[in-house]
Amino acid sequence: MHEDFPTDAPAVVTCGLPYANGDLHVGHLRTYVSGDAYSRALGRLGQNVAFVCGSDMHGTPIAVNAAEEGVDPETFAMQYHEQYEETFPEFNVEFDNYGHTHDETNTEMTRSFVRSWIDGDHVVEKEIEVAWDEEADQPLPDRFVEGTCPYCGETARGDECDEGCQRHLEPGEIEDPISTITGNPAEYRTRPHKFLRLSDFQEYLQGFLDRLEGTENAQNQPREWIEGELQDLCITRDMDWGVDYPGEGEEELVLYVWVDAPIEYASSTKQYTEQVGADEYDWEAVWKNHGTETEPDGGEIVHIIGHDIIQHHTVFWPAMLRGAEFNEPRAVMACGFVNLAGEAFSTSRNRAVWADDYVESGLHPDLYRYHIITGSEFTADVNFSWDGLQERVNSELVGTLGNFCYRSLLFAERNYDGTPDATVSDEVEREIQSAMDDFRTAVNDYRVRGLGRAPVELAKFGNEYIQRHEPWKLTDDDPEKAAQVIRDCVQLSKAIAVLIEPVLPGKAEELWTQLDEDGSVHEATLEAARTAPPAEFDDPSELFEGIEDDRVEELNRQLEERVAAAEDEETATETETDDSGTPDLEPVADDRVSFEEFKELDLRIGKVLSAEPIEGADKLAKLEVDIGVETRQIVAGIKQLHDLGSLPGTRIVVVANLERSELFGVESNGMLLAAGDEADLLTTHEDADPGTKVQ
Ligand SMILES: [Zn+2]
Repeated sequence: MHEDFPTDAPAVVTCGLPYANGDLHVGHLRTYVSGDAYSRALGRLGQNVAFVCGSDMHGTPIAVNAAEEGVDPETFAMQYHEQYEETFPEFNVEFDNYGHTHDETNTEMTRSFVRSWIDGDHVVEKEIEVAWDEEADQPLPDRFVEGTCPYCGETARGDECDEGCQRHLEPGEIEDPISTITGNPAEYRTRPHKFLRLSDFQEYLQGFLDRLEGTENAQNQPREWIEGELQDLCITRDMDWGVDYPGEGEEELVLYVWVDAPIEYASSTKQYTEQVGADEYDWEAVWKNHGTETEPDGGEIVHIIGHDIIQHHTVFWPAMLRGAEFNEPRAVMACGFVNLAGEAFSTSRNRAVWADDYVESGLHPDLYRYHIITGSEFTADVNFSWDGLQERVNSELVGTLGNFCYRSLLFAERNYDGTPDATVSDEVEREIQSAMDDFRTAVNDYRVRGLGRAPVELAKFGNEYIQRHEPWKLTDDDPEKAAQVIRDCVQLSKAIAVLIEPVLPGKAEELWTQLDEDGSVHEATLEAARTAPPAEFDDPSELFEGIEDDRVEELNRQLEERVAAAEDEETATETETDDSGTPDLEPVADDRVSFEEFKELDLRIGKVLSAEPIEGADKLAKLEVDIGVETRQIVAGIKQLHDLGSLPGTRIVVVANLERSELFGVESNGMLLAAGDEADLLTTHEDADPGTKVQ
């Protein structure tokens, strides 16, 4: 439905806003280096593009942590905002504008969005039950409360089911709420709040999702969320910290953080226009809708996010934009998680490689970018490890890409003082053309990984080509042929510089300079891959240095020592607070159930046939269980607690008549019984047959 990139309209690429609440680690950086690479790739295609972002400054976690540190939330968030502004360029992530949600531009833009919704009659007031801490005598918005997700039963935060089904939770929805301030069970109190009536946009959103491009997860997951009548979105909170609600007489309400956060995408673009002038880049041409509701017209808006915030970007955000008569996103690209050496990052256990650790390692930022961007498809989880980084850098960047460019330019400089006077062969012309096509396809298919693959494949071809023709044997026997082969190799090197720019911007510029090209590779378009390199250039130097084994061992040791230190500290604190060694046991409930009520549960013996992890979910595993009469698929939160490979053959107890549910997009048809936080599975004493009733 959309025409291919590059288009005549200006484009904007945004990244999910970093939440100004803590240090960044190399897992967080995946979205930003991918967004930077994608935006650069659009630029190489000749698209007029801005790459913008900003820090997310509001919301309860910042308010909570600032209070703990005894500073005001603005000071607290600002220190992280300033830190992020320094960190991103250290990874060659170059935003055209980097603002924050608390600045004047965004405050005004947010309030004008909300006024448009009020004028359009999309805002309703309702009395709702909100969690309340009696002891602290205050309301408990969002993360001030924890409890149980009403949809999947996992432990959840007040506004999202972060460990289970990932749903957004409205105020009052969470079950068994506990105050995170005092640890007391929360009460409920009635409070008036403002709601955006999402059902007004139901039909619009159907059409929007049909038009939406990007990754498949972002296109498909929201379809299920907009089936049935859409629930109204509560857009206010009982807090001081945030953007004030613009209506009259509502001074004590601020807007929910998920209102002003995405609006920063537009505000940051506006600030970019204020820097460069509307002639160069007009934010209104991008963000305002100059067409109709069903055929919007504006610029190309591309959002790059983690896959845990798909709902916000494909349901709430387009409705918010539509309600203000703004343009809609063209594409949403949602990436998978990053694991650290095969396991999840754990900031609480200090099991993380922090952005600063990487910078201090002295390794070039482009090496990290290459490892993370080409390590897996964008939508899949990717693994970061020092060993993995070493392996990929040494084989693909040093051995293939760097080696090819260095030997080509060295041979050219030694024998011809630069590019030999000859024409490029048809074979090499075709290879370059095909790599350029792969690059264009990767951009239009939203496959960031493809941007790194195309140039490395071209270098692989180059090494094979130079080996096949052995120009060093030809210089005396067939000087004309030798000149042509080297001409080909220099052209291939130049094409590689252009094609690798999005993923390795620093290294591409070095190669560009070695070729003595004019200007910067950051300004070159893809077509430059085929234009002649300068006739003269100087001695090249090697682009990459191999990473030595002892370097990797040292980096691994640092990480292990830190994790161990954090564990010791944790054990020490646990011993102080709990020396009995037994867990706190809940008292047995007073309310008794009748035998008849118990009989309503259909408990059966099941035999595990297979158990595998669910990609992207920290805890969930998918099990196939034979319950005699049939085989059931069951999703259970046991991934980290069991060696899944050892489970097949185990007899377990299954609640066979539990309602079906869906977790992480996977259907769960039943529940297994397990004890405690460690999910100790209930099994049988003898070999009862699958399907046998438990009573
Ligand atoms: Zn849930």
